[in-house]
Amino acid sequence: MKQRQAFLPFALPDIDGSELQEVKEALESGWITTGPKVKQFESEFAAVVGAKHAVAVNSCTAAMHLALEAIAVQSGDEVITTPYTFAATAEVIRYFDAKPVFVDIDPVTFNINVDRIEEALSPLTKAILPVHIAGYPADMKHIREIAARRGIAVIEDAAHADPGTFSKWNARGSDSAAVCFSFYATKTITTGEGGMVCTNDDAIADRCRIMALHGISRDAWKRYTAEGNWFYEITAPGYKYNMTDVAAAMGLAQLRKSDRMLARRREIAQAYDRAFEGNSRLQIPNSHILHGWHLYMLRINAAGGLSTVGDVRARFVEELKSRNIGTSVHFIPLHIHPYYREMYGYTPEDFPVAYSEYLREISLPIYSKMSDRDVQDVVDAVLDVADNL
Ligand SMILES: *Cc1c(COP(=O)(O)O)cnc(C)c1O
Repeated sequence: MKQRQAFLPFALPDIDGSELQEVKEALESGWITTGPKVKQFESEFAAVVGAKHAVAVNSCTAAMHLALEAIAVQSGDEVITTPYTFAATAEVIRYFDAKPVFVDIDPVTFNINVDRIEEALSPLTKAILPVHIAGYPADMKHIREIAARRGIAVIEDAAHADPGTFSKWNARGSDSAAVCFSFYATKTITTGEGGMVCTNDDAIADRCRIMALHGISRDAWKRYTAEGNWFYEITAPGYKYNMTDVAAAMGLAQLRKSDRMLARRREIAQAYDRAFEGNSRLQIPNSHILHGWHLYMLRINAAGGLSTVGDVRARFVEELKSRNIGTSVHFIPLHIHPYYREMYGYTPEDFPVAYSEYLREISLPIYSKMSDRDVQDVVDAVLDVADNL
């Protein structure tokens, strides 16, 4: 088969003159750290996702850390989450010496299996931390019912969510304690590195804002501008998690084109679906009308035991790479990583769905910079590899 000339990266940001213009303004203004661009990004982001407050920080990891701190997670507490996620989701629970209690995933959606949450609850459960994997909404209706019945908090890892779509998941507004977004380089919108805590709770927003900047009760922008003054008070040993104006400037431009970028990702997902649907070697991801399409999580159908399945997937990755197509795998479940294995004594079979789905997952490139030719090259390469498994 014809091989594409240049390697197609797995992910690329969509940067154009609008980011350059916003960043230029920030740089030329003389104010490059947390200031007016951050304020503006927070208010525009809050409006898009339909939240009362948005607090901009330098990562989603920081956002989740602050949210857990704001609901007063303590040493020995338990937080229910999914093993099928990135390192950040569980490490922020460990920051408090609290325990991430994993609940296996739903085999269709890759999201936390809500029917298994009940059995993971204990008197020590402080919160539920679901992940909207790939941009596919977790079953928040059920999660909220369970949390409300038990009087525990919900904090959403919305690192994969599309901001515009998120508001449509929550037509009546989110009553989660906090929703945390990521603006990492590969995410639905990016600031290079960045994150946002969104909440409708005034006290949580205030606490996150203060703890994001050293536990200081007034931010530097207010202190140093004409209307500010020199006095501040340290109210707690906080962190250094604030977003810079340079990053926020990029975020403003990204946010304004996020609907366009989502529309293109949706087109790509539909093209993949059409090409792979019905192929006995492939299983297309579950669709959802409000999917954010951060990832296109394809699954490979392979006969044999788990190790054979894993080998087939590894070969699939290599074969696509040799055809100049970049891919990735989402995610290596947390419970099979050395830290969690050693800390809690897990074996892969402790969360069998997460483990077996991981072994046959391969994420295909899906980003707005991809041309129709790029998409067709991925389709051709995947079908060719699948035919020759
Ligand atoms: C990327 C990611 C994060 C962390 O986001 P950062 O902004 O890099 O801290 C958290 N959770 C999930 C599921 C992610 O994919």
